[in-house]
Parts: sequence; structure tokens; C-alpha cells
Amino acid sequence: MTSAIDPVDLAARLIACPSITPHPAGAFDVLEQALRPLGFEVHRFVAGEAPDGPVENLFATRGTSGVHFGFAGHLDVVPPGEGWAGDPFKPEIRGGLLYGRGAVDMKSAIAAFVAACADLDLLQGTVSLIITGDEEGPATYGTPALMRWMAERGIRPDMILIGEPTSENRLGDVVKIGRRGSVNMWIDVPGVQGHVAYPHRADNPVPKLARLISALEAIHLDDGTDTFQPSNLEITAVSTGSTATNVIPGTARAQLNIRFNNLQRGEDLVALVRRTAEAEAPGSRVEARISGEAFLTPPGRLYDLVTRAIREETGVEPELSTGGGTSDGRFLIALCPVVDFGLLNATMHKLDEAASVEDIRTLHRIYGRILASALA
Ligand SMILES: [Zn+2]
Repeated sequence: MTSAIDPVDLAARLIACPSITPHPAGAFDVLEQALRPLGFEVHRFVAGEAPDGPVENLFATRGTSGVHFGFAGHLDVVPPGEGWAGDPFKPEIRGGLLYGRGAVDMKSAIAAFVAACADLDLLQGTVSLIITGDEEGPATYGTPALMRWMAERGIRPDMILIGEPTSENRLGDVVKIGRRGSVNMWIDVPGVQGHVAYPHRADNPVPKLARLISALEAIHLDDGTDTFQPSNLEITAVSTGSTATNVIPGTARAQLNIRFNNLQRGEDLVALVRRTAEAEAPGSRVEARISGEAFLTPPGRLYDLVTRAIREETGVEPELSTGGGTSDGRFLIALCPVVDFGLLNATMHKLDEAASVEDIRTLHRIYGRILASALA
């Protein structure tokens, strides 16, 4: 296939921008310069303030009629860390691999999608790119801000493909059709501090917290579904803040995380933990932060387009998974069906992050097939 844009070259130019969240570092300029000649209207806006912002966001669109296909992604990357063989922001190809921070997660996928757009007839359907500079961070001013921007203008794609790296062993072997939800909670059990030799003058919160933890561990949330594993509660830390051997501590604290499927809602889980805490350790305080609800894209058109394109291009039959960490699909699912599919994720966030050059070219062709059939 001849293409007006070489996805490997565009990926390298994006990687050369050290866009560690939330710094755009020129990456959005590179993307805009690639999109404008393809006939895209490019809208950019900055949202939020320090410390979580300001965050650069980009919405680019081409066409006004027919099926509206959306592609979502992020140009920010996690910090490179120490110990790379080369410079993480000087992309280079060695042994068929493109090295650099963001090669896998997920600048190459954005480049592959832009290259697929370059191959497409100008007048077919509507294509939009929804690109944020804050996916790896708190996401406060990222995709949710883009969605507000779109809602104000009445923009709503019919389906959204997210280019996150989902493949495990071979390109195309795993597609994510949903993710589990996640909630963190912190429980403080109050007591009365005192000398261990005078326990009648103190009230030790540790045994109460221990009973509470046993009660939490004993809760059976659900058995999972055909597409989701069972919801799971894990205690992730326990502390009293005291290390003295002769002091009964004044408070005891536990931290927990629940990864949950679409049989549960974050709010209900928080209420359940609060009720349990009140029963086992009266007076305790529960703080909660819901990172995202569980979501699932049921079988349908997008699902079929993605799996067929992978099968036709690679011969691989993708597994439809809901495992792993969350993605911005947790927000975008409010608009339309969402599927995540991209490169092999083995080196994401690691030292010497690298993507196979061959895979980037194959991903370009797969995205091309998805796009062509979606808009046909
Ligand atoms: Zn990512």
C-alpha cells in the first residue's frame, strides 16, 4: 500500500517530543502539521491549572456526513526513568524495533491511524481524532474536558476506537471490549492512645481494625460474568503510624482497592464498606476515590469491524478481553461503543520501550481496513 504518510516516520517525530504528562513539548504541533494537509479541521485547547495542568487537548475532524468514526488516544508519556540504552527521546531503529518513550504507549498507534486517514478518500463519512495530553496523569483535564468540549458543540461519534497497546504475544491477539472499574478506600479506626502497661486507660483500635479486615475479606462480591472475572477486594496497606513498643496507638488505618466488574457500581461498593466498618469498628471513617466504573461494549458493529480487520490482515483470531488496567474508555463509553486495540504492550512504561517496525506498518493496514469498512 502506498501512503502519503509513513507511520514509522511520524511516530519517530512524535517520540522526539518529550511530552511527559502534562507537558505537550511540541507533540501536538507535530500532529496538527500531519493532519491539516489531510483536510482535517484541527481544534486545540488548553485546560486546567498546575499541578495537574495545564493540559493540551486536540480534536480534529474531517467530513460532516455519514458514519462518524472516532479515534481516541494520548500524546503524553510516563517519565522515562534511569538506565535506558539510548536517549528515550531520540528515537532510533535497532534490530527492527523503534525505540523511544511512547513508541508503544501510544504514539505509534496515533501515527498508524493518521497514516490510515491519509489513504482514505476525502469524501467518505466523518473521521475525528480525540487526543489528550493527560491520560497517564490524573486525567482531570484530559478526556473529560474533551468530552465537555464536544458536548457543547453537539459532537458525538457513532463509535470510538482507542489505540492503547492491547496485544500480548502477537499483534492482534487481544482486543479490549471493556475494563473493570476501580475504587480505592482508606479506613481510619479511632481509639484512645495510652501506655501498654495501663490498657484500661486506653482504647486499642488495632483489634477492631483486624476484625473489620476479616469481615471485609469474608465478603463475596460476585462470581463474575461471561466477560468479566469476579470482583475482588484487596487490602493494600495497614498502619498505626506508631513504632513505639510501649504505646497503644490512637488510630489504625487500612487502605484497600476493589477491582470490580459491571455487576457492581463504585458507589454501592463504598456504601458496603462503610456499613461493614460501622458494624465492626463503630466510629471509623471511610474515605473513597472511584477511579472509574466498569464498562463493556456489547457485541455489535465496531466489535465486528475490529475483529474482522485483524483476522483479514494477520490471520490472528483476537481474544476479547476485559482484563488489565483501565483506559479513557471509562469516560468515552458514555458517548458510544468503545473498543481498545493497538500494539504489543510488553514494554510499555518500561526502560527501552520499543515497538516492532513491522507491527507499526501492519497496525496501519489494520486501522485502514477498520476505517474503510466503518465509513463504507
Ligand atoms: Zn496509554
